[in-house]
Amino acid sequence: MTANTAASESQVRSTVHGYPRIGLQRELKWACESYWKGSTTAEELDAVATELRKGIQTQLHEAGVDDLPSNTFSYYDHVLDTAVLFDLIPARFASPASAENREEELRRYFALARGEQGTPPLEMTKWFDTNYHYLVPELSPSVRPRLVGDKPVAEFREALEAGQRTRPVLVGPLTFLLLAKPAEDAPEGWQPIELLDQLVDAYGRLLKDLRAAGATEVQLDEPILATDEGREHQDELERAYRNLGGLSDRPSLLVSTYFGSIGSGALRVLKESPVEAVGLDLVTDKEGIDDLTKISGLGNTRLVAGVVDGRNVWRTDIPAALAELGTLRGLTDELSVSTSCSLLHVPLDLDAETSLTPELRNALAFAKQKAQEVALLGKVLSEGKAAEYTEGRATATPAFTNPDVRARLEALNKQTLARTQERETPSDIQLPTTTIGSFPQTTELRRARAAHRRGELPEEEYNTILRAEIDRVIALQEDIGLDVLVHGEPERNDMVQYFAEQLEGYATTENGWVQSYGSRCVRPPILFGDVSRPKAMTVDWITYAQSRTKKPVKGMLTGPVTMLAWSFVRTDQPLGETAAQVGLALRDEVADLERAGIRHIQVDEAALRELLPLRQEKRQEYLDWAVNSFRLATSGVDVTTAIHTHMCYSEFGVVVGGIEALDADVTSVEAARSRMELVRDLGARGYKRGIGPGVYDIHSPRIPSVEEIETSLRLAVDNVDPGNLWVNPDCGLKTRGYAEVEQALRNMVEAARRVRADL
Ligand code: GLN
Ligand code: ZN
Repeated sequence: MTANTAASESQVRSTVHGYPRIGLQRELKWACESYWKGSTTAEELDAVATELRKGIQTQLHEAGVDDLPSNTFSYYDHVLDTAVLFDLIPARFASPASAENREEELRRYFALARGEQGTPPLEMTKWFDTNYHYLVPELSPSVRPRLVGDKPVAEFREALEAGQRTRPVLVGPLTFLLLAKPAEDAPEGWQPIELLDQLVDAYGRLLKDLRAAGATEVQLDEPILATDEGREHQDELERAYRNLGGLSDRPSLLVSTYFGSIGSGALRVLKESPVEAVGLDLVTDKEGIDDLTKISGLGNTRLVAGVVDGRNVWRTDIPAALAELGTLRGLTDELSVSTSCSLLHVPLDLDAETSLTPELRNALAFAKQKAQEVALLGKVLSEGKAAEYTEGRATATPAFTNPDVRARLEALNKQTLARTQERETPSDIQLPTTTIGSFPQTTELRRARAAHRRGELPEEEYNTILRAEIDRVIALQEDIGLDVLVHGEPERNDMVQYFAEQLEGYATTENGWVQSYGSRCVRPPILFGDVSRPKAMTVDWITYAQSRTKKPVKGMLTGPVTMLAWSFVRTDQPLGETAAQVGLALRDEVADLERAGIRHIQVDEAALRELLPLRQEKRQEYLDWAVNSFRLATSGVDVTTAIHTHMCYSEFGVVVGGIEALDADVTSVEAARSRMELVRDLGARGYKRGIGPGVYDIHSPRIPSVEEIETSLRLAVDNVDPGNLWVNPDCGLKTRGYAEVEQALRNMVEAARRVRADL
């Protein structure tokens, strides 16, 4: 190590905020699932977890990272872990007979996550604007936060015994409480944040225990500070960290924030608080340096600078990062370099990919490679060698451009992308019945797809199986009496990946698994370059389905926003431009479907709500490009073609203007669980287009009765013009079984008949 010459030349230590925990081969998934099935014991499950944690420590150490985190592991979810740790558990979950009983303890833990006979689980929702889902704690004034577990201490000790003095990572108290919801028995108006002081006391106990075990620093994650809600709680922030900081016998505190700017206000609160270090996400937060300058830097509060993107798969531009870190050095007495957030959101190891082109591979970094990057940055700065990293060494995203795509977009952008207002009504039938697109993906289908992918099932045989499935789905829908049919999507593994595999500019990975929730992982495709469509993607399947029936069959596409939301997207151009390219490719597909005689075309925007920026002030700009890309895809059609869209969530208040602007003829949405709230909203706004509020919840295996569906429908009829109303389930049916689906749809069609008769 070189000698420290001046303050600004002092050592820059490297760290990461967290690391993937599922394992390269999804070991944790398999271990949990076999434990749930009862095929393995708690002991066997714990053994897999221990190995995984060891592997993580080894990888980070070998990557050269100076300061390793711990307690980033979880069997299911870190917010759930926190609730269990502090005994913040709804009364419907019986506590384990004895804390010593590991089987009992695990049984309750997984019951909280997954439910148990007669006991519904905690609600699950998205972790900020990521695709990771956490379990929402249910709190009430009757709970008393107290430290009852020792997971962070145990995992710290485990690492220490293996030779690593790690930094335990905890969900911060403010974030925990603001993400929680009031339990049903909580009095009207009561909010979980009222538990702050008690919870902070419990955190204090934990900090002492960690100190006693030998921890010198603890990380408290407060990503809530990047949201409007977090920004409104600066007093609570100040109080929480004044209290924690005031404890004697505690480790140093690092308060980490990520997913956006926390603003100079919160920054100043943290600077003036007794916490020793602050972590900032300088990738998402473009105003970070300005805010730091505004408060004249952090002084003797250490800055943990998140300059390596923890949420995307691109390699860091090392010279640019070094330059930025150089500036940051002037804004704090002590600097560390880190990832922008936990690496939980990226795949584990690029080395496990064998089929990416060398050019693309060169532009990528997964978790392990990102750990190497922070280590490199720390080392180069500590050794004063930044100057050696000149331009050209960097591998910024290479330009995978396609001049044709750019020229076409340029030309189209000059036209107005609106459809004429006078369109033919999408259906002559009143209260037309339809579904959202997919039908059950049976075991046989999944097997055939897997065999086909492995090269064990020839193309023609596979296609025969798929056509047979379409025949069955069409016959079933005719028999049930649905009005607008679908082909059932048997050929699709996933609504994004299916298209990504066919579009230029997208790559897919073999092992790029990312945890979505619990044991569920996804493999998001990588959108690396200009997007174009070499040939039609869905026309053969839809026209085949249409050839089997006289009723109209609805074409089924995934919209631009959703294609981006569930992928890793290039960062060298604004998201809106990338979305427009996807919109353009879809525009051609829509035109081909129309030419083939398809009169109903659905463009799913399941994720429109999901990409909505965390901060209010950024939302309009987002909705503008989102709407534009959808219109690019859909505005080319004739007045006789009906454009449908579908969205998957119940809180629409925030995007209702966007829905109107999409200008689809028919919009189907989730509504069953929110008791048709949306329909009332739309009714009140005088919405003019077709609307299909989901009349039953497909997320549950329960079969809704005719009467139940009828009640929902009548509620809808009372609120919007029945001439605009469509009848459909909440979402696609792919996760359900045929037995339930058939009966549920029969009941739905019967309910529509009854309501129709009274119109
Ligand atoms: N068309 C898709 C399906 O039915 C839509 C899925 C979704 O909204 N997530 O499966
Ligand atoms: Zn849906």
